[in-house]
Amino acid sequence: MLDDEVAVVGGGLVGKAAALALAQAGLRVALCGAGSAPAQPQAGFAQRIYAVNAASRRLLQRLRVWEQLPGERIQPVQAMQIAADGATLHFDAYSQRLESLAWIVESDAVERALDLVLRFERGVRLHADTVVRAQRADAGWQLELSGGEVLRVGLLVGADGRSSRVREWSGIGVRSRAYGQSAVVCNFSCAAAHGARALQAFTPDGGVLALLPLPDWQGQHQVSLVWSAPDGLAEQLRALPGEQLAERVQQQLPALGAERLGGLRAAGASAAWPLLLQRAESVAGDGVALLGDSAHVVHPMAGHGLNLGLQDVQALAAVLARRLPGESAGRPELLRRYARARAEQVLAMQLATDGLHRLYAPQLRWMAPLRALGLLAVDRLSPLKTWLAGYASGSSVLF
Ligand SMILES: Cc1cc2nc3c(=O)[nH]c(=O)nc-3n(C[C@H](O)[C@H](O)[C@H](O)COP(=O)(O)OP(=O)(O)OC[C@H]3O[C@@H](n4cnc5c(N)ncnc54)[C@H](O)[C@@H]3O)c2cc1C
Repeated sequence: MLDDEVAVVGGGLVGKAAALALAQAGLRVALCGAGSAPAQPQAGFAQRIYAVNAASRRLLQRLRVWEQLPGERIQPVQAMQIAADGATLHFDAYSQRLESLAWIVESDAVERALDLVLRFERGVRLHADTVVRAQRADAGWQLELSGGEVLRVGLLVGADGRSSRVREWSGIGVRSRAYGQSAVVCNFSCAAAHGARALQAFTPDGGVLALLPLPDWQGQHQVSLVWSAPDGLAEQLRALPGEQLAERVQQQLPALGAERLGGLRAAGASAAWPLLLQRAESVAGDGVALLGDSAHVVHPMAGHGLNLGLQDVQALAAVLARRLPGESAGRPELLRRYARARAEQVLAMQLATDGLHRLYAPQLRWMAPLRALGLLAVDRLSPLKTWLAGYASGSSVLF
């Protein structure tokens, strides 16, 4: 006898969204590791922010989560500028006939909104305890929680991040490559308005510097830094006091084409994340589905890790919503359908971000004039730009 049809392991954004989406698809779900989101910061914006694309926003709207987000803490991105080797590529929502290229949201704010909707979702049982062990049992999986409780479920969903234990318990292999870079993040106030423009530049050391627009806070213009820098530099940047980090970023403004933003002042502490490329050998196994970072980790240069995770959620919920009455959620054919649905987009995003990382590596500095020509050519080819913008928004496919 099963306790629930599905156990989702991991209470990050992907796990919480998965529990909601599967319950709304009619399944009985246990969410394990369902801690509460941190409270809204007293001042300014949280350090961890995401660029959410149109496909992810649609999912959050369908889950009735988007409407719980405070509108004044969402920043639409109307334009994007990518600079490298002295050339620049521009995108703007207006000429692509899009409402916005993306929406910048705080991770904690999305999690609070998910918590609120989950509290009223009767199909989800919330377990704050984590899963310490899982093993295959007759009709599914048997899980042991940190508080000692035992659960039996038909389908085990791993949404437990890049070091996934679910992946390990289910014997699914993983390929990883460290980029030798870490992403340093910090919010800054700036003297001039950012004009809802996201700025990104490839740096000569193979790093990527991005300044993302944030909503104004108490009359102050704000931007958020994501600087993917070689590990040594990232360590130095991370150790700098706020005003010195602001100075270092200020020196990079010309490379970003953003001199006019003017005097930057750190608004909050910095943090750093080591970056890697990682892919599970399969996103589905014996009674198991992997979602989010447990299935794939990409370089944050395109801001797509969470978007891929939310699209995993969407795909799994769509497959399971169409199962036959009485059919187990862990049936191999259903899981194979989920794996097929995700194969192309995940591979394409990994190839694109990893390809760009390699193309702008310091060893290929000699290719700078060619790369600049390529970037200029893309900038002038409107159909290619429209297709790239559609791809980034999650609305078109690569192959
Ligand atoms: C600097 C940086 C910037 C980024 N910017 C963007 C962006 O702009 N847009 C975007 O789309 N993506 C972005 N990403 C990627 C994004 O952060 C991740 O893809 C996303 O957070 C993954 O979410 P997740 O829920 O899969 O994993 P996680 O957030 O890692 O959550 C996993 C959860 O599982 C829990 N857990 C682990 N083990 C267990 C267990 N045994 N039992 C129960 N619970 C368990 C963990 O405690 C955690 O809560 C960025 C990444 C970085 C590093």
